[in-house]
Amino acid sequence: MLDCENKSGWVQFLEFIESRCSAAEYQNWIAPIQLIETATEEIVLEVPNVFVKEYLLDNFKDVLADFLPLRSNGDPAIQFQITASVRQAVSLPELEVKEEHFDLKLNALYTFENFIEGPSNQFVKSAAFGVAARPGKSYNPLFIHGGVGLGKTHLLHSIGHYIQEHHKKLKIQIITTESFINDIVDALRSKSIDKMKRFYRSLDILLIDDIQFLQNRLNFEEEFCNTFEALLNQNKQIVITSDKPPVQLKLSERMIARMEWGLVAHMTVPDLETRVAIIKHKSESRGLNIPNQIAFFIAEHIYNNVRQIEGAINRLSAHSRLMSTQLDVDVVEKILSEMFQGNAPNKKISVEEILKSVAAVFEVRISEIKGESRHKEIALARQVAMYLAKEMIDDSLMKIASSFGGKTHSTVLHAWKKISDQVQINELLRKQVQMVRRNIEN
Ligand code: ADP
Ligand code: MG
Repeated sequence: MLDCENKSGWVQFLEFIESRCSAAEYQNWIAPIQLIETATEEIVLEVPNVFVKEYLLDNFKDVLADFLPLRSNGDPAIQFQITASVRQAVSLPELEVKEEHFDLKLNALYTFENFIEGPSNQFVKSAAFGVAARPGKSYNPLFIHGGVGLGKTHLLHSIGHYIQEHHKKLKIQIITTESFINDIVDALRSKSIDKMKRFYRSLDILLIDDIQFLQNRLNFEEEFCNTFEALLNQNKQIVITSDKPPVQLKLSERMIARMEWGLVAHMTVPDLETRVAIIKHKSESRGLNIPNQIAFFIAEHIYNNVRQIEGAINRLSAHSRLMSTQLDVDVVEKILSEMFQGNAPNKKISVEEILKSVAAVFEVRISEIKGESRHKEIALARQVAMYLAKEMIDDSLMKIASSFGGKTHSTVLHAWKKISDQVQINELLRKQVQMVRRNIEN
């Protein structure tokens, strides 16, 4: 300990520390501390909340010991007072809330208003909206999964926008799993891991994109899981997106169990009508007028990824700006021909092909699938065939149903729902369905 008067000991500490931490850190954590009283045996500091006290002791205990009187155990002799609640309300937490909102990196276009609903995403969209309207009070966590380019990130940002607008007081953070891991690495490097932990644990809402990137990152998984549990335990809202359902992620059982606690919602490929609606919406917002016929043409050819649809609209938009020509199917076909490669525009899958492949994999006869038998194996094969028909063929349910020996559209819908649920929990069935699908696609 330096032999000097206590007040100047604190002032010296401040001067010393100011050169050691960033301006923002100093401003956020050190500047709010007030020296209240100074005596030879201890000093009294006023802090806005317990986090500041912890921050000070966690990071600078040794340095403090060099400048301040010591207790018999060697700790710096500081008595802390927490600022009265009125002042507390306008001090650190509030400032941080504003700052975080300000920093929140949301894509301005990814709002609920810009999200087109259809049967493939209606359920997920209303779950997302429910969470945004009543964070921490409906489904927690909300786990959204589905293929690439189907709007998962869009919905995550929509939740962020809505909460930012309607729940201004809530502290919210949106991150990709990659940037969460980077944050941890940075924090470890700059020895501010406790601060980072405190930050994440002080959130009201945490939105995490692409959790599949946590797979095979063992060290980070544990930190993630701890944060996750800390938030859930306080009823703080968590929303996660993933390209797979929780059970298919290579993560610890503990992590998977937590993610399944709330609501697991699946997004599928939008049907033809929804794709057309998306095309109309996106093109209008770019000032491009796409006639219905052309919108259908595009929707028929690009069917499994909305991002590709957007790519197509961007090309058309660029083309029509340059050429100032009317878009007709021939022009569109020419412009988009590259994109359609791999999307197999000429190969339309038929119910017959599906039946053939299902019959082979499930070892039943096509006539049995089309028939009425309620025998377990046959009924399952029939439901899988209906599921795949709805997933892979862009016809009305009624038309699909009639190809199954005159079943009704509600039978097809029921089968589709049942198998959609089953493939998420039944590994064998999932593999069988994949096999059928691959046979058809090749
Ligand atoms: P994912 O995260 O599932 O891979 P994104 O959320 O990034 O997909 O979506 C890809 C693009 O498609 C985004 O530009 C998004 O706005 C758009 N998109 C996807 N689904 C819809 C939808 N239902 N309505 C409007 N735009 C959509
Ligand atoms: Mg995404």
